[in-house]
Amino acid sequence: MEWTLSDTIALAAADCTRCGGYGIRDLDRGGPRPCSCVFRAIFRISYAKFQQCVNRGKWLTSVTLEATPKGGRRITWGRKNEEFIADFLNVTKRTLDPFEYRLFTYHYLLGAGWSLCARRLGVDRGTFFHAVYRIQEKLGRTYRELRPYSLFPIDEYFHGRTENTTPITVDPGDCVPIRDNSLNRRIKVPIKRAA
Ligand SMILES: [Zn+2]
Repeated sequence: MEWTLSDTIALAAADCTRCGGYGIRDLDRGGPRPCSCVFRAIFRISYAKFQQCVNRGKWLTSVTLEATPKGGRRITWGRKNEEFIADFLNVTKRTLDPFEYRLFTYHYLLGAGWSLCARRLGVDRGTFFHAVYRIQEKLGRTYRELRPYSLFPIDEYFHGRTENTTPITVDPGDCVPIRDNSLNRRIKVPIKRAA
């Protein structure tokens, strides 16, 4: 995936000393790359959504209808909350090494504080927090770059891509054309007539 400023600037930490709040670091070797503060932000947002899905009452779960990737008029259904929980856990387990996954389980799934985790894992405070930052960066990048369907952005996971490729057709007599630059085509917008 090719990262651009529009992918990173809203996620970057405003006070980040590495990227200056832009989310892109211009490294000598390898060219511009996303800053780690962006990956950590992606992790925090995805983890917050995971917690929200887990804590939601089962009676609030709902079935969602969505168009299939094959196109046409086919429609499939799914339980997005449960799918997100399963995807989040599976992707996380696949991405982390055994030590990191143990730390993730203790700290993020079981809610243990750093001192309990450090004692259980046999590491000191510095090693623990270094591992936490490393885990957040690894997972944030993976959630965003996952193919064919990424976990982040969250709204695209839950609602699909918002880009509309279906032409809007209404009576030409009631419309004025405007230019939709993103799709490079003309669409029609109805005029509201005074009563
Ligand atoms: Zn940064």
